[in-house]
Amino acid sequence: MNDIQMGQTHIVLLQGDITVQHVDAIVNAANSSLLGGGGVDGAIHRAGGSAILEECQQIRNRQGGCPTGEAVITTAGRLPAKHVIHTVGPVWNGGSNHEQQLLAQCYSHSLQLADEHQLTSIAFPNISTGIYHFPKKEAATIALNTVKEYIEQHPATSLKQIMFVCYDADNLSLYQQQLQAMNV
Ligand code: ADP
Repeated sequence: MNDIQMGQTHIVLLQGDITVQHVDAIVNAANSSLLGGGGVDGAIHRAGGSAILEECQQIRNRQGGCPTGEAVITTAGRLPAKHVIHTVGPVWNGGSNHEQQLLAQCYSHSLQLADEHQLTSIAFPNISTGIYHFPKKEAATIALNTVKEYIEQHPATSLKQIMFVCYDADNLSLYQQQLQAMNV
C-alpha cells in the first residue's frame, strides 16, 4: 500500500531522492548548527545551492541554530520545491533520552510551520534513520502516527498532500507495513 486518504490530506509513500520533488516544502534532516552536513542535508545543500545556507546563517545569527525537535523554514534555492523546512532529529542513544518524543516533535513542528505558511504539499525524509541511527521500524511508526494525529487535531490544515520519500527499500517496506497496519 503506497497511499491513503486521511481527512482532506493524501498520504503518499515513495522511494527516491527528496531533492527532485515538486512540492511546496521538502523537509531536511538537519543538525542543530544549520550549517549543513552529510546524508540528505548534504544532498539538499548541494542541489539547492548557496541561497539555502545563506538563509540558515541568518537564522543562526538571529536565534543561534535550531534545537533538536524544532524546525525552521528557508528558501529552496535552485530546487524544484519552494521551501526547505529544516528540522533537527534526535541522535539515537538507546531510547531513554526522549528520542521518541523528539522525533515526533520534528514531524509535528514541521507540519505546523507548513500550515503557518499555508503550504499545500510537503515531503519528509526518514528523519534520524541515517547517521543518527534511530531504529527504522520505530521511526516509521512515529512518523506515520504523528502525521495521523496532526491531521485529526488540525482538520482545517492547508496540507493536501504529505509525502514520505524513502531513500532505501528497507524504509519503504517498513512504511508500507505501518500504513497497512494503521487501518485508517
Ligand atoms: P540523520 O542525521 O537525521 O540520520 P541522514 O541524512 O543521515 O540524517 O539520514 C536520514 C535519512 O535520509 C536516511 O534514511 C537516509 O537514507 C536518507 N537520505 C539520504 N539522502 C537522501 C536523499 N537524497 N533523499 C531522501 N532521503 C535521503
